Amino acid sequence: MDEIPIEQIIRSRRRSISLVITPDGHLIVRAPLKAPAALINKFVNEKSGWIKKKIGEIRQRPAATEHRYEEGETFFYLGRAYPLHIVESGKNPIERTDRLCVCRTLIPDIKHRLKCWYVQEAQREIHARCMWFSMTTGYTPKSIRISDARRRWGSCTSTGGINFSWRLIQAPLEIVDYVIVHELVHLKQHDHSKKFWSKVKEIMPDYERRREWLRENERLLRI
Ligand SMILES: [Zn+2]
Repeated sequence: MDEIPIEQIIRSRRRSISLVITPDGHLIVRAPLKAPAALINKFVNEKSGWIKKKIGEIRQRPAATEHRYEEGETFFYLGRAYPLHIVESGKNPIERTDRLCVCRTLIPDIKHRLKCWYVQEAQREIHARCMWFSMTTGYTPKSIRISDARRRWGSCTSTGGINFSWRLIQAPLEIVDYVIVHELVHLKQHDHSKKFWSKVKEIMPDYERRREWLRENERLLRI
């Protein structure tokens, strides 16, 4: 029988063993402090069918491809695909119409300039959505910042601020909204307990569907 490699064993004061498959398809085992290695291996072997199925599913998910910044290449903004279009001149150096129009003069620095554009759009859009949800739910962050995080779409700080990765602005608005609500609820509920999820559900009854979308498509957003 072929062994399944365990990437990491996280021991804590828990009673049972559980398995986590990371978004890039690695196996992490959570185990009680004193669980013997033999017991952990036996547990992993018993679940090998499930583990292989999960890892297989992850490998089949779409992966982000490196941008080449060529005419016609697809860029995502709020869930819509925009082909890149190089223009000779324009009102703004970068403009979103039905295409993502970029002035030819930006080409030497296009990767950086497009990232700056995404950051700026994320700042405006995510800030506005966040303020709206804050007003309607009563969860008020001390600050809202846009980060360069590649793996975490949102996070909250110990001082009551929240951060969102600029990469999130590539996702559909309903997914952006879900990440915002998730982080706002964390301001008062710091864990992922039942209580946390029931608060999220109160604000967003269909959050599970949105969460699932993010799980399946997050690799696309990691440009
Ligand atoms: Zn969370």
